[in-house]
Parts: sequence; C-alpha cells; structure tokens
Amino acid sequence: MKITAVRARVHEWKGKTVPPTGNFCSNAIDLVYDNGAGRGLTRADTMHTFRFHAWTVVEVETDAGIVGYGNVALAPHIAKAIVDQYLTPLVLGQDPWDYEYLNQRMYRATHAWGRKGVGMAAISAVDIALWDILGKSVNKPVFKLLGGRTKEKIPCYYSKLYRLENLKDMQDEAQTFLDQGFRAFKMRFGYGPAHGQQGVVENLKSVEAVREVIGYDNDLMLECYMGWNLEYAKRILPKLERYQPRWLEEPVIADDIDGYAELNQLTSIPISGGEHEFSLYGFKQLLDKKAVSVVQYDTNRVGGITMAHKINALCEAYSVPVIPHAGQMHNYHLTMSSVNCPMSEYFPMFDVEVGNELFYYIFEGEPVAENGFVQLDDDKPGLGLTLKTEFLDQFNIVE
Ligand code: MG
Repeated sequence: MKITAVRARVHEWKGKTVPPTGNFCSNAIDLVYDNGAGRGLTRADTMHTFRFHAWTVVEVETDAGIVGYGNVALAPHIAKAIVDQYLTPLVLGQDPWDYEYLNQRMYRATHAWGRKGVGMAAISAVDIALWDILGKSVNKPVFKLLGGRTKEKIPCYYSKLYRLENLKDMQDEAQTFLDQGFRAFKMRFGYGPAHGQQGVVENLKSVEAVREVIGYDNDLMLECYMGWNLEYAKRILPKLERYQPRWLEEPVIADDIDGYAELNQLTSIPISGGEHEFSLYGFKQLLDKKAVSVVQYDTNRVGGITMAHKINALCEAYSVPVIPHAGQMHNYHLTMSSVNCPMSEYFPMFDVEVGNELFYYIFEGEPVAENGFVQLDDDKPGLGLTLKTEFLDQFNIVE
C-alpha cells in the first residue's frame, strides 16, 4: 500500500456562536497587564487566546482506495501550511504500515522548529490519518491494533462548568448532567492572581457550589488552564483540600515544570497536566520530576497515535495514569487499549462556544456518552469517523 495524496482542509466555522459570559475560565494571558490599546479588551475577550473556531482535517489517500482522517485544532491555518509544505512530501509514495519510520521522519525533519507546539500538532494529524488507514486496511478498529479492549466501556467525565456570573447556573448545569448519569465533573476557575483575595474567595465559593450539587460520592476535577502562578497556587491549594478534588489541572504555564513538581508535593491534591506538552521526551521530564500525578496528553498534539502509544507505556512504568485531554476518537482508542487509562474527558455537544465542540459538527461517528460511559464498536474499522455533511454549509472550507 502506498500513500498517493494528502489533503489538509481548514474548516472555519461561520455558524452562530455563543459568546463566553461571566469570568468563564482563567488562562495564561490573564497574568499579563492589558493596556486595552487597539482592542478594548473585556474580561471575556481575553478568552480569544482560548477560543478557536476552526479545525483542520487531514485526509491521507492510498492506492488501495482507502482514505484515513486525522485532525488538528491548534493553530489550524498554520498546521495546514505545515502539512502542505513540509509533511506531505515526506509521506507521499510511502507505505502507511511504516508508521514508526514516518513518524520519526516527520519529527526529525521538522525538529529545528517543530518539536513542540503546532509542528507536533500537524505531525499528529497526519499520523492519526495513517492509523485510520491501517485499521481500515485490516478491517479492525484502531484500538485492536494498539492492544485491544481493556475495559467493557470507557467511563468519562463531564467537562464544561465554566465560571458563570451566577453560581446557580453552574449548579443547574451540574444537576442536568448528574441526572444524565455522569459520576465525574470538571469545573473551571474564573479568577487568578489579578483578582486578589476576593478572587480567591470567589474560586472557593464556586467549588463549594458544585460540590453542593454533586456531593462527595462523585468525582470533582478543577481546571485552572494555566491562569495562575506558583505563589497564587500555593496560597489557594491548602484551602481547596477540604473539597477533595480528584485533581487540579494546569495550575501554572506548561513550561514551569518545577512549579508543577512543587505543587504536586505540597498537598494531598494530585496535580495534572500535559495537554500542552509534546513528544516522549516532554513527558519523561514531567514524570522524572514527579510534576504531575495524572498525564493528560492530547493525541492530536503530542505526535499522533504512534507517539501517544509510547507515552502510555512510559506512564505505565511510572504508575502515573493517563486521562487524555478532550474526548474525540483518537483519544478514546488509546484509552480503550491501555489498562493505565482509567477514564476519558468528555465534551458534550453544545452550540459552538469555545470551539472544542466543533469536532461534533465536522465528524460523524463521535460516540455520545450514555450514563457517563462511551463505547467503541469492535467491528467498526479504523477510527470509526466519516465527514459529516449536515453542517457543511456552515463552514468556510480553506483548501
Ligand atoms: Mg484542560
């Protein structure tokens, strides 16, 4: 089998979007003074670094007539340019079964500039498409090529609960999904260092509000999205202990690995991270420093299925569980095939807000959670995705 064509298309959403409200979610840019010049930023507008309303779909075609799909959400237009200009020539004419060779080829050929960030995200999309081809070519789901079924179904946690203006609205949201059978919930903090002690109080109030609804016999995860710094996190962590979170996610920027390590030893609260980390080496560093107690790579950033499979093995040897970032098929297949992946994140399908809902609008076949579980089909070849036509008129497609 030979690769005959690679196509990267940006799907730009032009349908209706829901603007973020309230303090929404802390994020890394919050720590930078904003003088308002040029854009008159409001608090919700700082979320522009967090929202993305485009997605790049990579199609890899073979002489066997099989087409594989991969996708990338980080900086989608730049990812498309990297696929078009750098990666396509490296894989054209090659056998997709030589996936390790092709992954190394892409990784090393772009190493001077691509080893972290969007370079790896672009490589990931091509690699995911290759695995989709492999599964389709032998009529097996991808997870069967990675080790097979390790669990009856995948437990997943409800991931949204942004910091809304009114805590009652957050409570209603938690109640709705508790009623749908979810047993684990992740909420976002709305406040960080810039908001002082009042923000600390607000953050604690929001955790208390959600705990009030879900009780202590369900899991609660806390998300900072890199919107704090070490000093702030050290102040607030001991106060959060009484709420027994299952983990606290990305308290500081991804590069502050020593900060993660310090926080992970500070209290009984496990620190998680890794959705902004890349390659096997990036994760080895996190593990060696005991910086995180839960690893959360995203297969479509980290270097694709080839790389994620290696990271699963590495984490297993360190006894650190992997619970990948986002739902999405490429992550579910890795979760299904590893005993070291106890559960999945689950973004429910909503109107387009942050942008992480967009994959439901692009792909057919993404599993819908039932009673807090997702299931993968033993008989569906490849990743199990096709392109959806229903919303196609609401995208601008950049070829
Ligand atoms: Mg996260």
